[in-house]
Amino acid sequence: MVDLNTPVNQLIMVGPIYGAKLSKLGIKTIEDLLFHIPFRYENYSNVSTIRNLQVGEKVSTTATIASFENIYTKYGKRIQKAKISDATGEIEVTWYNQPFLKNIFHPGVKLSLSGEVKWFGKNLTFVSPEYEILKPGIPPIHTGRLVPVYPETEGLSSKWLRSRINVVLTKLFPQIPEMLPTNFLSRFNLISRKEAIYKIHFPQNYEDIEASKRRLSFDELLILQWAADIRKKEFNQKTVGHKFEVEKFKKEVDEFIQNLPFRLTEDQKKAVAEIISDLEKTKPMNRLLEGDVGSGKTVVAAISMYLTYLNGYKSVLLAPTEILAQQHYQTVSQLLSPYKIKLGLITASNRIKRQKNEDLSKFNIYIGTHALLSEKLKIDDLGLIVIDEQQKFGVEQRAILRDKGKNPHVLILTATPIPRTIALTLYADLDLSVIEEMPSGRQKIKTWVVPAEKRNSAYIWIEKQIKHSDFKQQAFIICPFIEESESLETVRAAKTEFEKLQKEIFPALHLGLLHGKLTTTQKQKVMAQFKNGKIDILVSTPVVEVGIDVPTATIMMIEAADRFGLAQLHQLRGRVGRGNLQSYCLLFTESENTKTIDRLKILERVFNGPKLSEYDLKLRGAGEIFGTRQHGHFGLKFADITDLVLIEETKQAAKILAEIDPDLSQVSLLKEEVQKYTIAKVSPD
Ligand code: ADP
Ligand code: MG
Repeated sequence: MVDLNTPVNQLIMVGPIYGAKLSKLGIKTIEDLLFHIPFRYENYSNVSTIRNLQVGEKVSTTATIASFENIYTKYGKRIQKAKISDATGEIEVTWYNQPFLKNIFHPGVKLSLSGEVKWFGKNLTFVSPEYEILKPGIPPIHTGRLVPVYPETEGLSSKWLRSRINVVLTKLFPQIPEMLPTNFLSRFNLISRKEAIYKIHFPQNYEDIEASKRRLSFDELLILQWAADIRKKEFNQKTVGHKFEVEKFKKEVDEFIQNLPFRLTEDQKKAVAEIISDLEKTKPMNRLLEGDVGSGKTVVAAISMYLTYLNGYKSVLLAPTEILAQQHYQTVSQLLSPYKIKLGLITASNRIKRQKNEDLSKFNIYIGTHALLSEKLKIDDLGLIVIDEQQKFGVEQRAILRDKGKNPHVLILTATPIPRTIALTLYADLDLSVIEEMPSGRQKIKTWVVPAEKRNSAYIWIEKQIKHSDFKQQAFIICPFIEESESLETVRAAKTEFEKLQKEIFPALHLGLLHGKLTTTQKQKVMAQFKNGKIDILVSTPVVEVGIDVPTATIMMIEAADRFGLAQLHQLRGRVGRGNLQSYCLLFTESENTKTIDRLKILERVFNGPKLSEYDLKLRGAGEIFGTRQHGHFGLKFADITDLVLIEETKQAAKILAEIDPDLSQVSLLKEEVQKYTIAKVSPD
């Protein structure tokens, strides 16, 4: 009897060799195999008779082999030619380098073919079509239908995976038990889990795919919410190891705020008040502080760390990159310099420089990167953890950090404009503070969409700004993403662009290049040169997206802006306008599509991150708000985290479940899945 837990190695034609390959894709059990879902479908469902085959169309046909021969060209190439026929006519089929076909394509064999036909002289020919031999009563799986295409790995093709999955589904009939209460299916218009698995692999039509995705996404969002809810409940029962005094230090905190070189905005004040009221409680704070780049989250964090210090406890500030850690170190040092607070910078490259036996326990505030996590640093008296940029640190890292102290307070800073509904789902265990208003006196960044024909005049304008203005001014030039992650190709493109700009466009200026494949030391060097003005223009891949503070950087030029989401462009734009000078953002696009240009032009008038993310949601939908690179950060396999409607429905489902079966005792499979999810997310890798 096959069930979902059966090891995949036990399948016929799998064995140890394929088993090893499958495990590269994370597939160990039948369940893993069935949940290895297609990332797209080849549409071969247009079935035609031979007479009606059309050139240039993806078509499928069913026919019988009339003849077959292997041909060897004088250059040693091997070509396979077959003639196939149906009731309406005959056509030639050509394959290359597949001589073994001779062994199976005997005259009379019935085939299903999918591909394209082309003219070869006067004759139509099928060229290298997909093929499969038809057996009576068995529908094709590789041809003549919507054909699933899977994530592959070396030596494991989609075709092979498809065959194995098909064997499992049509020969072994594994138990695929339901995990929702049965009345949920009609109530929420869902197909069963079993049906979803069958249809996601072998759909009859696009509706089947939609229905399956809906079902699998529903489960995923429900599990996600339930797990967050459990975390929240567990968290609510925790007590801080170190209780803070707030009233006692009110005077000091007020003075600190008075002495800042600026007045806090109303939103900052509100966030500070919310945080301070959390810090006073015996339940640890677990709060997300959301605010645009430049909205002044750091100072809010600094106030919290100062209060922690006054209480005699230590703080940790965790940044996603070395550059940011360093910048935070400088900013926070400045803010706290009058108060004799000892700050330590702990990053991977810094660690090497530190003396072996240096006493790390002397600091009041630790600022650093992931190195802080791996460091065998046990911080006694840890009162507060601040994490900058939420998505990069998942639940698991938060858990590791918490382990470093006795249930310290946690404050998470994020500039990712997450619409409220989504934040409340994803981070159901977090409380939310939002800074919407930017510090006053901040000038609007003049933003223009620059069409291709104005490129040269834009370059001339940039050079003039940098060379002939009364103030020091600098520029960023952001090269486009070429691939999802910063691949070598993106880096290569940035290098080429950098060289071209330096040689041909701005020979009189100093240019620097920044990308993710530089070593930390190299990055720091470039950043330092940009910060102290040795570099006029910093050419960069979009890695600078995460906060860099250079007040004299006034120009942000973005290449192929149409490839970015609006919220993401807005975040890049936030790298300039950090000082008092008028700043500019130039959005370059080669696109002449009016829709594309209109979309970009929204940035000329809207300067509010959350609002822009709503536009993204409307105009481009899925995944856009978080930017390509952040996609997948939420660990979702099926669900689109921006699908507010489905989120709402799963919320409702969770609510009903919580009423009728709060322990999930009637839906043990769901319970198991929730547990699996919770454990997977919390164990460090
Ligand atoms: P972010 O939210 O992106 O982390 P920062 O905390 O780095 O923003 O603040 C951006 C800049 O704005 C800093 O130079 C900071 O000193 C300044 N700033 C913060 N709050 C205010 C304020 N209320 N008024 C004026 N400037 C402020
Ligand atoms: Mg910041």
